[in-house]
Amino acid sequence: MRLIFVGPQGSGKGTQADIISKKLKIAHISTGDLLRNISGGLKEEVDSYIDHGNLVPDDLILRILNERIIEKDCDEGFILDGFPRNLVQAKELDNIMDVDEVIEIDVSDKESVKRISGRRGCVSCGAIFNVETSPRPITPGVCDRCGGDLTQRKDDNETALKKRLETYHKETKKILSHYKSVKVNGEQDIEKVTEDILKILK
Ligand code: AMP
Repeated sequence: MRLIFVGPQGSGKGTQADIISKKLKIAHISTGDLLRNISGGLKEEVDSYIDHGNLVPDDLILRILNERIIEKDCDEGFILDGFPRNLVQAKELDNIMDVDEVIEIDVSDKESVKRISGRRGCVSCGAIFNVETSPRPITPGVCDRCGGDLTQRKDDNETALKKRLETYHKETKKILSHYKSVKVNGEQDIEKVTEDILKILK
């Protein structure tokens, strides 16, 4: 099964992709994570796009995605989380494969800003917490899961987030009408959003 999860920053698409990919035993491909994990010569250039809230060039992300989807864990399918981000990428993807379902996880800009400003990630295990909403870390600044330090992503600041949301509305939302996407309300409990997505996939 090949799925695409679309949603603005902080919509919970990463969280849902994580839960649903485990349930369906398919891979979870976050293009943001792939880019953040790049090392070597390209790192500086990629980080500068990300940190300023800009999309990286289409040819670069397409190359990275093409390399990722041929890995063994993608044999049974995958969820694309963060790709495509514009119509060019969507059309390129059409040339490579068919997609079974495109799910939009809808949250308002107000909710998105609230969630992103409170988002903290563990530097050791990658667990995500939120100091404004949930899951709130038991001890501020410390990961409940492994005791690692919690930090804020560089692009989760006000200026970069404004630009990222603008790009979402101007560029990424166009892909929703390119596909027959189905919308779920992302402003519900995590469990309820998962339930709604699973209903669509039945
Ligand atoms: P995310 O973790 O999905 O919020 O992505 C973080 C950042 O990675 C984005 O703001 C972009 O700079 C970059 N990025 C992720 N996915 C893509 C993509 N499909 N196309 C271009 N840039 C991307």
